[in-house]
Amino acid sequence: MMNYLYSFNNFFLASFASLYCASFFDNFQLIIIMKAFTYIKQGVFGFTEKEKPILIDEHDAIVRVTMSSICTSDLHIKHGSVPRAVPGITVGHEMVGVVDEVGEKVTHVKPGDRVTVNVETYCGECFYCQHGYVNNCTSPHGGWALGCRIDGGQTEYVRVPYATTGLNRIPDNVSDEQALFVGDILATGFWATRISEIKEEDTVLIIGAGPTGVCCLLCTLLKNPQKIIVCEKSEARRAFIKEHYPQVLVVEPEDCEAFVKEQSLHGGADVVMEVAGGPDTFQLAWQCARPNAIVTIVAMYDKPQLLPLPDMYGKNLIFKTGGVDGCDCEEILHLISQGRIDTTPLITHRFPLSKIEEAYDIFENRKDGVIKIAIYPDKE
Ligand SMILES: [Zn+2]
Ligand SMILES: [Zn+2]
Repeated sequence: MMNYLYSFNNFFLASFASLYCASFFDNFQLIIIMKAFTYIKQGVFGFTEKEKPILIDEHDAIVRVTMSSICTSDLHIKHGSVPRAVPGITVGHEMVGVVDEVGEKVTHVKPGDRVTVNVETYCGECFYCQHGYVNNCTSPHGGWALGCRIDGGQTEYVRVPYATTGLNRIPDNVSDEQALFVGDILATGFWATRISEIKEEDTVLIIGAGPTGVCCLLCTLLKNPQKIIVCEKSEARRAFIKEHYPQVLVVEPEDCEAFVKEQSLHGGADVVMEVAGGPDTFQLAWQCARPNAIVTIVAMYDKPQLLPLPDMYGKNLIFKTGGVDGCDCEEILHLISQGRIDTTPLITHRFPLSKIEEAYDIFENRKDGVIKIAIYPDKE
């Protein structure tokens, strides 16, 4: 998919070869043209040709993408519900790759390293970064930039700003498929579980068994709570949970509240993670929680949600809200390397980059039992 063009920026000078030999070589560049899956305008993604990215800042790295994936947030961009997304950018923020080049100030990674790429760009130095709240990094480049405000990973090469914090080396015994979700949905599951303060005596309710819900489940399993209940409306997704995680209780939304109360020691779940983002799931989350429970809202909603304080008066709930602080990738990779987290069952489909449109169709329309899709480079 890649073309090579030779560019003579200063051809006029270069033609006086005997006099301007140095100029000739200074201005001789190899431009690599690559295929980039691009947000063209609202409702339209398509391939465009772009030059291979170059280092712009001394904190940047260039990464050759060896695997990427499609996320629901990509669909949010496509449908215009991410106002800060910039038309013309290459989409995709879930990816792994090999470091191709690094700026002078990049530490921790070097060319040739296999790396995960963090969905969040963060400086590591501001007040929020220093406190681990990297989602609120105050750098103008901070936050969700890749595949939203700047070119992302559904292509061949990507420029990663703040590469020291944004890239993590993949252990040798971890494959690209095992590491693919570390920087985004698995980081989200890990962070959500961390802030939910799960204890071994707890009954934990997870609402929603989509890819992020499953990542929350995998990280909750590490905390060994007494019981885990997953609430999911899709029959196929309930079957997926039953097949892969038989130790987990599964329930449909209609029966959820009664079931959770029956399964809990104190009249409701000790911890609720709301990962569904459906029209009634916020309400379901706090209704299933016992008094003084932690309710963690991981979901991204299309619409404002109602917080009916009179109805929940005296329940003394603790709400924690989303926007992943994706700064645990190293620890997550270590857990994968030890065999304690495995997200590979989520990968139900695999496509080469050139067929990503077909992959989007399957993902967007939830065809063929799809959960997640791995996109790999086309053979040269
Ligand atoms: Zn995502
Ligand atoms: Zn920062």
